[in-house]
Order: sequence, then structure tokens, then C-alpha cells
Amino acid sequence: MHVPFVDLQAQYKTIQREIEAAVQAVFHSGQYILGDNVRMFEQAAADYLGSSHAVGVGNGSDALYLALKACDIGPGCEVLTTPFSFVASSDAILRTGAKPVFVDIDEKTYNMDPFLIEERITPRTRAILPVHLYGQCANMEEVMRIAKKHSLTVIEDACQAFGTVYKGRMAGTMGNIGCFSFFPTKNLGGCGDGGMLATDDRDLAEKLRMLRVHGSKTRYHHEVAGGINSRLDEIQAAILRVKLRYIDEWNRRRNEMAAKYAALLQELPLQLPVRETHSSHIYHLFTVKTSGKPERDELIAYLHRNGVQTAVHYPVPIYLHPSYLDLGYQAGDCPIAERVSEAICSLPLYPEMTEESLNHVARVVSAFYQGRRMP
Ligand SMILES: *Cc1c(COP(=O)(O)O)cnc(C)c1O
Repeated sequence: MHVPFVDLQAQYKTIQREIEAAVQAVFHSGQYILGDNVRMFEQAAADYLGSSHAVGVGNGSDALYLALKACDIGPGCEVLTTPFSFVASSDAILRTGAKPVFVDIDEKTYNMDPFLIEERITPRTRAILPVHLYGQCANMEEVMRIAKKHSLTVIEDACQAFGTVYKGRMAGTMGNIGCFSFFPTKNLGGCGDGGMLATDDRDLAEKLRMLRVHGSKTRYHHEVAGGINSRLDEIQAAILRVKLRYIDEWNRRRNEMAAKYAALLQELPLQLPVRETHSSHIYHLFTVKTSGKPERDELIAYLHRNGVQTAVHYPVPIYLHPSYLDLGYQAGDCPIAERVSEAICSLPLYPEMTEESLNHVARVVSAFYQGRRMP
């Protein structure tokens, strides 16, 4: 049996006719950039999130960059963030000319440990950029409390958490601006790149709308510096309008599958995903933690030999990448992130995954720990 890590065609097949009709309509409309689909998707997404404004952009990485720009973050500023994320969350900070300052993670949720934030605050600190890793919110209550106390901006990286609820509020709507990605493998994914920002602040929303078109409100009149060309594509918006109608169902399905995994794997010497009481989880990823690198690497090899694809999110803390060398960070700076990155492995989980596939994955993982070969 072969179980892929994700299966994007499986989801497409379930809504093929709706998607194809929506895309055809764009072709016929002759409106290819910032047309009705983008406007209507922004409205539907804002309504879904309970946010006053949503602004569609080219991808999640640009969303993060534009959020920082809109909040006037640039050279000389420091932004506190997590080292345990996709590199885009920190790259956005570097791209503005500001400096990412890394705060180690919580041992259980792998999200930024809010109790380590304050010791990293300096007179140059301007913002906190928490990432809602794997689909579960960071400890936003603490993040917002600290931000308020020190007058810091909060930009949420909700690229892995569309639809996650934290104490009654949607991920991406608690800070000043929330950033989303619609990369195809995200829980709400297009058929290409896409991204969005959410904010309750009218001025920020207006600035973001200008920044995504070279800082202009009126064509060929450029008011805000630092703008780029980054727009949600009309075709992607049409697809996302269809998919938004299914997101609750898909997120629910992800939760059911995560619960099944948990039930089947609970006896094993593995750290399963830990859910905080105040945040829901959409299991963008279902990531387990082994005792360390040797065991993790053996588990992955064993799963691959038995037809199960896996992935590691993420194998290297951001500051240890060669691209971050100039910042002067070194091994040992965030010991928990370093330890976790060597021990984790993500198992296949997507809404269309069959029960049979999930059982196979669980059986192979169990067999690995029972030291026996698959029949
Ligand atoms: C996917 C992702 C991004 C970047 O999104 P893109 O659309 O690929 O640019 C940023 N942060 C996190 C945590 C992500 O998972």
C-alpha cells in the first residue's frame, strides 16, 4: 500500500465541476486582475474570520512583508519571532531591513514560548510575529498582554491556521494584522500561489491595498513607499470562493483523522500533538516527536520502506540556515527548537485520506515500535 503525504488531486475531484465552472467564468469575464472574484472572496473571507477587512495578495510571504511595511517596520527595528517555522515568517522581517530576534518555543505545542518574550525586548523592539504552527494558535493571550504593555505591534502568521479558533476569535484576527497563505497544500489552498491579510484597522487596510499595487490608490500616482506588485490572482480567488464553502467540513475532517491517529498511536513512546485548551486545531500538519534524531531518521526510513510518505516540518531552526549566518546567531541559542527539530516527523493527514490509508500508517508506526516487520 502507498500513502502519499498529501493528495491534492483527491480534493480537486470532490469539487471538480464547481472549480472548473468558476475558472471558466473568469476566462469569459475578461477581468483577470483585482476583479469581482477577488473582491467577493475578500468579503467572504472577512465575514468568515469576523474581521473588518481582508486584502488578497500574491502569497503568504508577501502578506507578511506587506503587514510589516504597513506598520512601518524597517531598518533599525527588531521583531520578535519563532525560530521553529517555515523560513518565510523570518524572511519577511529580513526583507524589510529589520532584524528577526528569536524566542525559543514551548516544549509541548512548539509555538513561541510567551514566557521567554520579555527577556528579548530591547529599545529597538517594535513588533511580535507569532506563528500559529501546524494549525494551533500560539498563546495569544500572553502575546497580546506583553504587546500592550510594551506598545508593540502584533502580526500573526496564520498561514497554517485558516479557521482555527482561539478563545472565540479566529486565528489572524487578534493582532494588528493577520497573514494567510493559500499555497496548494495549506488547509485552504488554491491551484497556485495566493495570500491574504486580515485587519480590523481601516487605515491599515487602506495602506495594504495601496502597498500591493506599488503604493498607489489612483493609478500612476504612488503615495506609499515600499510597495510591490502582489495581488491575489482572479482565477485563484474564484477557486478559493468555492473552497471557502468547504473549509469547516475539511477542518472537521482533519480533526476526526487526528483523533483517530491519537487513539491508534497513544500507547507508543511518541509525543503526539498536544492541544492547548484555549485553541482549536485544524491539523494543517500532524506531527509526532520521537526521542531524537537517530530514532526519527529510522522511523522515517521504515515508513518509506512500507509505502508511507512523511515530511519534516522543520529540520533546521531558522537562525541556523546559512542564509541567516550574517545575523550572528549560533547553535545553542534556542535549545528547545534545536532539540525538537531533530526529533519530529509529520504523518500524512488530509481530509480525503481514506480510513484504510490512515490505519496503514498507524500500523506501520506501531510495527516500528514493536520491532517487528510488516507482514
Ligand atoms: C506557507 C507558509 C508561509 C508562506 O506562504 P507562501 O504562500 O508559501 O508564501 C509563511 N509562513 C508559514 C508558517 C507558512 O506555513
